[in-house]
Amino acid sequence: MSDYSLELNEDQLQIQKWVHDFAEDVVRPAGREWDEREETPWPIIEEAARNGLYSFDFIAQCFADPTGLLMCLVNEEMSWGDAGIALAIFGSTLAVAGIFANGTPEQIGEWIPQCFGTPEDVKLAAFGVSEPDAGSDVSSLKSRAVYDEAKDEWVLNGTKTWITNGGIANTHVLVLSVDPSLGSRGQASFVVPEGTPGIAQGQKFKKMGIRASHTAEVVLDDCRVPGRCLLGGKEKLDERLARAREGKRTSTQAAMATFEASRPIVGAQAVGIARAAYEYALDYAKERKQFGRAIIENQAIAFKLADMKMHTDAARLLVHRAANMASTGKKFESGEGSMSKLYAGENAVWVTEQAIQILGGYGYVRENPVEQWHRDSKIYTIFEGTSEVQRLVISRAISGIHVN
Ligand SMILES: Cc1cc2nc3c(=O)[nH]c(=O)nc-3n(C[C@H](O)[C@H](O)[C@H](O)COP(=O)(O)OP(=O)(O)OC[C@H]3O[C@@H](n4cnc5c(N)ncnc54)[C@H](O)[C@@H]3O)c2cc1C
Repeated sequence: MSDYSLELNEDQLQIQKWVHDFAEDVVRPAGREWDEREETPWPIIEEAARNGLYSFDFIAQCFADPTGLLMCLVNEEMSWGDAGIALAIFGSTLAVAGIFANGTPEQIGEWIPQCFGTPEDVKLAAFGVSEPDAGSDVSSLKSRAVYDEAKDEWVLNGTKTWITNGGIANTHVLVLSVDPSLGSRGQASFVVPEGTPGIAQGQKFKKMGIRASHTAEVVLDDCRVPGRCLLGGKEKLDERLARAREGKRTSTQAAMATFEASRPIVGAQAVGIARAAYEYALDYAKERKQFGRAIIENQAIAFKLADMKMHTDAARLLVHRAANMASTGKKFESGEGSMSKLYAGENAVWVTEQAIQILGGYGYVRENPVEQWHRDSKIYTIFEGTSEVQRLVISRAISGIHVN
């Protein structure tokens, strides 16, 4: 007898339905408005907080799912509703993942609840690694953290860019260089708590898609945080730096630890967009008549839809495999986390473009959502590691060769 199963359990199905209903009733109808306004959709975030969807307890429940799938299911449903709004609501979880991957149990207990606040006083969090001159090459961060031993404080300086919720977040989790000569092995993650002087929002970016999600620079100017804001603690950092200076292997680097955990979740968001576009195009193709018959009666359209469904299901399977491996402690041998995000991201771009094609002129105009979903999908080949970077990870993993 085999215990292999692709069936979701009762709890997962129930939560999936609950999130789907919220996505259908609240998120999807608001998508166009917030895309046009290009602002953080506070009323929707507050509603998500009121019904418990945006809360520490709910996210903790998702992360605690032993199969690892719950967080993916939730993200797929929310992004099926609208990816920009979904990111505005769940952007904080990237910071949560950063704290979870690098923090001590005390730090996890202290800082993670603060990323969410309460339904009466909703808070946001941001996770910042990228810099103007350090995007794919995260080993070349220029922002610095210098320890002031006399005061047991860290002094943070530099500019982070492209940061989701950057500057509007209450809690920022930032990766900075402590010893630039060690590259990514000389980096550490810091929590910058609410109200800390010396941190400010720089430019806010106007974007192609996911426009309900705020993206901005974060500028650090002699920003001082207490010693306890160093995730993992000073002792562990000192040990890690000493090992790196001796040329020994060190444990997972700060930024990479976060990305490993979050890639399948980001992949699940892309699956949500692709599924939305596939379903919309399928319905349209059954309704739309040309030459006296529904356009789906032409193989040219029906085969496209068959491929859209097949590739989206394949993307979901890769996402679920990686999430399951990560949560059950199985090591990624072939870059399975990268595979899931890469495949799901590229599929979302392709599927949404096919959806526009199936809708013809009606797909190109704003009265239908597919043009927006196409714009939204594109970020999934760029953030959390570009498609090229994912291919590097996979090719290095399968070959053992440092492919450039
Ligand atoms: C909307 C948005 C939200 C974001 N949110 C966050 C966030 O919350 N936190 C955060 O830290 N960052 C965030 N980012 C940053 C994002 O992760 C980076 O944009 C991404 O990692 C790519 O870096 P880059 O833009 O500097 O591109 P570059 O690294 O300059 O890359 C440019 C091109 O060169 C290619 N390339 C680079 N190196 C290689 C190589 N070795 N081999 C082959 N090709 C290569 C890339 O694949 C890409 O096609 C966000 C970005 C955007 C646009």
